[in-house]
Amino acid sequence: MVLDIPCKDDFFNMGDSLLNSAWDNFITLLKDYSEYISVGCEEEFEEVFFLHAKPKLMSSFTLVQQAVEFYLKGNIAEVSPYILISNDARNWPKNAAKSDVNFSEFRTIDAQDLVKIHNTFSENRLDEPFKVWFNEMRNIRNKIMHSVSSKDFIEPTHLAEAILTAHGHFLGSHQWIKSRFIYHLNSPSNRIDFMTEREKEGYRYFEVHEEISIAVKALNPSSVNKFFGFNKKSKAMECNFCEEHFENIEFYDHGRWRTHLIDTLVQSELSKTSYTCFICENTLNVLDAQCVECRDTKINVKDGHCVWCKNDYWE
Ligand SMILES: [Zn+2]
Ligand SMILES: [Zn+2]
Repeated sequence: MVLDIPCKDDFFNMGDSLLNSAWDNFITLLKDYSEYISVGCEEEFEEVFFLHAKPKLMSSFTLVQQAVEFYLKGNIAEVSPYILISNDARNWPKNAAKSDVNFSEFRTIDAQDLVKIHNTFSENRLDEPFKVWFNEMRNIRNKIMHSVSSKDFIEPTHLAEAILTAHGHFLGSHQWIKSRFIYHLNSPSNRIDFMTEREKEGYRYFEVHEEISIAVKALNPSSVNKFFGFNKKSKAMECNFCEEHFENIEFYDHGRWRTHLIDTLVQSELSKTSYTCFICENTLNVLDAQCVECRDTKINVKDGHCVWCKNDYWE
């Protein structure tokens, strides 16, 4: 009998954690870079910095490729995990016929056959654009892996696009922010007990805002729209719902902390008085009027209070 047989979720969880880990590398890299830039650097700094980061970018790119393999295995396991076992019985564990063995002791199918096997058994075949993308990614990685030229390196934005493409394909579009919230929630730093749950949640919101701001600034408008459903040109303001979470952080200082954050409460294309945050997904409906106190802000339809200075409009 075979023990510890993995299921789809086991593979998908592994894929998620690889993608999230690659994303952490991407964000840390851009954060470090902008810190250096903010204190002033010599002219060719950008080139030197990202060339130095080449191994990190390459290993992160490899993580994305491995994540895709895990997702493919997950879809195959959903049909039957036994398909994943290499079908040559001569390679099976020696005592398999006499005693119980763990699934992990079996040799599994080769990565290069995954797409073919996936498309043979899964009810949702991978479409042509995805196959082209996956092959292209493999080629880029192979080329860069074996190149010593300083010109061959992976752009950080290319890494981010690879992460978002892979995630969007297997988990559905615009699900990345949700995945980041879950990843932060499961982070060991969330287990420290000198902070209240509300404060931890505040940090979680702040961290997600910070990294999405970094990504949105780095990616081009069409990628931002494709991956986050956010049009960089649309009218947006600070999200008051997210701000409420930030305010649960003991040391939070609105003036200083959010200078590098982007505005995420986006005006609806259908109604000028409706705004939705693409991070927390809350919607704010406002009156088409100005607050007498702070002038240019908005009044919440629900309670008649100004979103920012809390002044009561009806009084
Ligand atoms: Zn929000
Ligand atoms: Zn006001």
